[in-house]
Amino acid sequence: RTSLAARVSTLTPSTTLAITAKAKEMKESGIDVIGLGAGEPDYNTPDNIIEAAYRSMIEGKTKYTPSGGLPDLKDSVINKLKRDQQLAYSRQEVMIGIGAKHVLYTLFQVILNPGDEVIIPTPYWVSYPEQVKLAEGEPVFVESSFDTQFKVSAQQIRDAVTDKTKAVIINSPSNPSGMIYSREELQQIADVCKEYDLWIISDEIYEKLIYADEVHVSIAQLSDDAKARTLIINGVSKSHSMTGWRIGYIAGDKEIVSAMTNLASHSTSNPTTTSQYAAIEAYNGSQDAVETMRQDFESRLERVYPQLDAIPGFKVLKPQGAFYLLPVVTEAVEKTGFKTVDEFAAALLTDAKVAVIPGSGFGSSDTIRLSYATSIDLIEEAVKRIRTFVEANW
Ligand code: PLP
Repeated sequence: RTSLAARVSTLTPSTTLAITAKAKEMKESGIDVIGLGAGEPDYNTPDNIIEAAYRSMIEGKTKYTPSGGLPDLKDSVINKLKRDQQLAYSRQEVMIGIGAKHVLYTLFQVILNPGDEVIIPTPYWVSYPEQVKLAEGEPVFVESSFDTQFKVSAQQIRDAVTDKTKAVIINSPSNPSGMIYSREELQQIADVCKEYDLWIISDEIYEKLIYADEVHVSIAQLSDDAKARTLIINGVSKSHSMTGWRIGYIAGDKEIVSAMTNLASHSTSNPTTTSQYAAIEAYNGSQDAVETMRQDFESRLERVYPQLDAIPGFKVLKPQGAFYLLPVVTEAVEKTGFKTVDEFAAALLTDAKVAVIPGSGFGSSDTIRLSYATSIDLIEEAVKRIRTFVEANW
């Protein structure tokens, strides 16, 4: 008798977390490794948020909350969506969950029947396909490349639609590419979703990390129809440097939100109460720290992008958002005598002592992902090491 359920037999561990763990292990054993694998801002959570959390505990707010989150936090999210996206939602259309990741997990559990397909543009965030499969759905990948700026077209999505398609995932700004879909591109995608009556899952977790003159547009803003079929996923992890607090939310269809809340009532009870009070302050308090962090990320990007682009055999698009760089490294891999990007990335860790994530985990096997969510000195040193490694083995 096998001990594990079929459901988890094909589950692949998150590459991001695996490499980050390996780099940490090397560091702890005294090896000078620079980790560029991280998917989280390197700043502490702003003081006003920590203080609000502390105050809430001292005031005795340490008990269960409603499963879908504190009404006050829902109101903070509603105000945020009004303020930033000019979108109106009611409390029944918002659920607070344990990070955007678990909100997405719960969403797939409530919308997918066995065999239902979800269209996922590549390169994608590692957890989308696994979460879809855990809900017995089928991920359907639509490919993008360096030449299409790592974005897919509405026509590609149309071509991937079948009578089993239930939803399309849009992640803009994107992890891992950092690219942003323009209003026009989103409009074309929204039109296809209307034509085939599909849900749009819009993961906007990197909304606040946008550079140069780019602006964040939520696909839900485009029309009443787009709003009605869009499920916005967001949270405080990346915007307010609160990854460890685990607070995310969904805003969208009442029936779906209600089913998710019902499921949460039997699985998680509620997101951590203290974290919810912290998130209220994150959304209602001063947003200065959010902008300070954004500017800091942008100045790192400006410094490091040309250096990375100058590495022989690296082709790099300049990201418009998030905190990742996704160079296409096919030529460097070939010229340095490696067979795959995975092997190249493994050698970067053991020989150059730089941890990067091979793109295979993102459905983008000719790339590696580097995070610049670490100090500029470390990033520059890491890029230097990669360059030395490539040149030495060329
Ligand atoms: N969506 C994307 C694209 C991400 O990169 C992440 C985190 O890495 C998440 C969702 C999940 O964020 P959290 O669960 O911390 O809110």
